[in-house]
Amino acid sequence: MDLSFVIPVYNEEKTLKELHQKMLENIGNKNYEIIFIDDGSNDNSYNILQRIVREDENVKIIKFRRNFGKSAALQIGFDKAKGDIVFTLDADLQDDPDEIPRFIKKINEGYDLVAGWKKHRKDPITKKISSKIFNLITSIIFRLKLHDYNCGFKAYRNEVIKSIHIYGELHRYIPALAKAKGYKICEIPIKHHKRRFGRSKYGLERFTRGFLDLLTVTMITKYERSPLYLFGIGGLIISFIGFIVTLYLSIAKIFFGMPLSNRPLLFLGVLLIVVGVQLISIGLLGEMIVYTSKREGKNKEKEINHKNSKPG
Ligand code: UDP
Ligand code: MG
Repeated sequence: MDLSFVIPVYNEEKTLKELHQKMLENIGNKNYEIIFIDDGSNDNSYNILQRIVREDENVKIIKFRRNFGKSAALQIGFDKAKGDIVFTLDADLQDDPDEIPRFIKKINEGYDLVAGWKKHRKDPITKKISSKIFNLITSIIFRLKLHDYNCGFKAYRNEVIKSIHIYGELHRYIPALAKAKGYKICEIPIKHHKRRFGRSKYGLERFTRGFLDLLTVTMITKYERSPLYLFGIGGLIISFIGFIVTLYLSIAKIFFGMPLSNRPLLFLGVLLIVVGVQLISIGLLGEMIVYTSKREGKNKEKEINHKNSKPG
């Protein structure tokens, strides 16, 4: 299979048919599959998708019972996608399928992930400004300069999407997750259109949630394999200061007979030790979770290899 298209759909009844048509025009004679994920739409989207399936056997539909969000939709699509190159594309026709060949060209040049950049973005000004800030901060934190992390239009080599796992609203950080795995990433400016039908599913609240997700992704990308480094170092420093403080107070009490009942410093010392030890314990728990999940992953791999090597 040459190409897979993963398309999340949440109440986009008006554009689906045209989107499918336009995609076909740009796919040419390549083998392809189009996976539509109906993310709990309550309009006519699902019926229209079924009509499309009847016309085109390369189209598949996955239907969610309720709205689980774009990340969940993309993830299930990634799990199923078989194409060498996997595209994601919004269903609202704001992304223009005309750009498909340009993405393929970039992947063939050797990039693992090609991200679209809505250079002349046709969205409300509030969205444009907040998105600029979001992209700037994200670029700095992950040391990957992109103008448009959250662009729905991207192309990946299959290996990339199989190696990352997204949930919640982490789809905005896919390039950061891919970079942490060492993949080569580039971006290309693409045409962007105004939303002609329906409503945007995201308002400004995405940015507050986005910043919490930023913490998650920093943790995943920088400390996934060694949570103890994140928590442990802070914990050691804090409890060491606590130790020095209580040591000083102990010496004062034992050798110089100073009373401790009127020393607020004592509380500070005890507090620092308790908090420090807690941080270290959290780090150790993190280490154990990483260890067991890696071991389980390895066992599963062994099982699969074993099954595959069985004759018959
Ligand atoms: N979408 C989805 N589930 C959701 C929200 C959005 O599948 O909970 C889909 C939506 O149908 C569209 C894409 O994700 O295909 C991008 O959404 P939208 O156009 O509303 O975002 P915007 O362009 O405003 O950033
Ligand atoms: Mg849109």
